Amino acid sequence: MTADASLHLPGHPHVHRDADGHLRVEGLRVEQLAERFGTPLYAYSRAAIVESVRAYRRALAGRDHLVCYAMKANSNLALLQLLAAEGCGFDIVSGGELERVLAAGGDPGRVVFSGVGKTEAEMARALEVGVLCFNVESESEIERLAEVAARTGRVARVSVRVNPDVDAGTHPYISTGLKSNKFGIAHDRALEVYRRAAALPSLQVVGIDCHIGSQITDISPYLDALDRVLDLVEALEREGIRIPHLDVGGGLGITYRDEAPPAADALVAALIGHLERRGHAHRTLMFEPGRSIVGNAGLLLTRAVVLKGPAHDTGNVDPQAKNFCIVDAAMNDLMRPAMYGAWMGIVEAGPTAGLPPATWDVVGPVCESGDWLGRDRVLAVKPGSLLAVLSAGAYAMSMASNYNTRGRAAEVLVDGDRAWLIRERETPLDLFRGEHLLEPGALGG
Ligand SMILES: *Cc1c(COP(=O)(O)O)cnc(C)c1O
Repeated sequence: MTADASLHLPGHPHVHRDADGHLRVEGLRVEQLAERFGTPLYAYSRAAIVESVRAYRRALAGRDHLVCYAMKANSNLALLQLLAAEGCGFDIVSGGELERVLAAGGDPGRVVFSGVGKTEAEMARALEVGVLCFNVESESEIERLAEVAARTGRVARVSVRVNPDVDAGTHPYISTGLKSNKFGIAHDRALEVYRRAAALPSLQVVGIDCHIGSQITDISPYLDALDRVLDLVEALEREGIRIPHLDVGGGLGITYRDEAPPAADALVAALIGHLERRGHAHRTLMFEPGRSIVGNAGLLLTRAVVLKGPAHDTGNVDPQAKNFCIVDAAMNDLMRPAMYGAWMGIVEAGPTAGLPPATWDVVGPVCESGDWLGRDRVLAVKPGSLLAVLSAGAYAMSMASNYNTRGRAAEVLVDGDRAWLIRERETPLDLFRGEHLLEPGALGG
């Protein structure tokens, strides 16, 4: 094998096809991973994750900053542990995610708590462990949080999530910065909400935040949002309400197909340039990236179980018939195609010499027509072939379910030529633990 003959996959700095046609994550053949750990299997590159965080932090070096990884993208404990060691804080959206931070050894003092529907129990727990900041998303949350803090004798640090009403140019389900979204507080209400927060003794205003959407591939919506936020900051400080930190959220896109999002350090540099022009560069700058940290670091490995259609069934000459490649991963493992119609790359894991390529719909075995991973893909496959779904590090395993009583996949972290099992495959017993049969007397009859 020579380095020259190997082929890097778009957007995936640590996944390549070697000269013999074998797909590798870092130094390991994915076929070996599938044999050792079974399929479906999520495999992540440690180097890709570490490098993506370092791109943000490199551009922020020398100034007060915090990169809070938005862990809903992928909340595996080992990944959180790795990211904490890289100096990340965390953006959480539930009490469950807070417990994950603690279980991974993360510092609650570097956690920002987002989400439109925080319960009082979640607020109390977050106050108890001392989160850095509550990103408040509604006027009533201000009142409820102040009450919970007062009741427990604590002071809640708050930032108001401002909805800057800018269009991030992304899919409607993942756009969050428009007036019509449920997220944040409308720009024209924000001043009043800050006045109220500043007047409540159990709250301390520490910053301002926004998050305008996901899979954003342009810098300009970020600059528009920042301008709107800075207008507010200036108005607030004229009234004597200090805003020490600016949290510009997450949302930076990745390459699924041919998208060319800015690099994280280019985005950060552009924002810093804008802050300098407007005289705000002294503030602590915070980010909440999720997808751009883990998205292109992960693959989903899955095996073809059954092939159907004219390309496979001898004698089937129906010109309308589709070819289906039914694999052992399904919508319960990977929701993005079913939920957003998302396109994700699918490639063969090993050499395909001698196999004729055909056009396939790659689908799972779940009893739903929406259960597909990719449509009209040209692949050379036979039953048992191993395939890899690309860009599957974010919003993939973290959205997995047990629909059809399917255990969730195992996860491995690849580091050079070593692989660590970071999550075991679920067994049927895991799935119904906690369920109770009726006592015989309750069956009636
Ligand atoms: C989901 C989310 C993020 C992360 O978004 P990505 O597109 O994954 O970077 C950041 N902040 C908040 C408040 C979120 O809800």
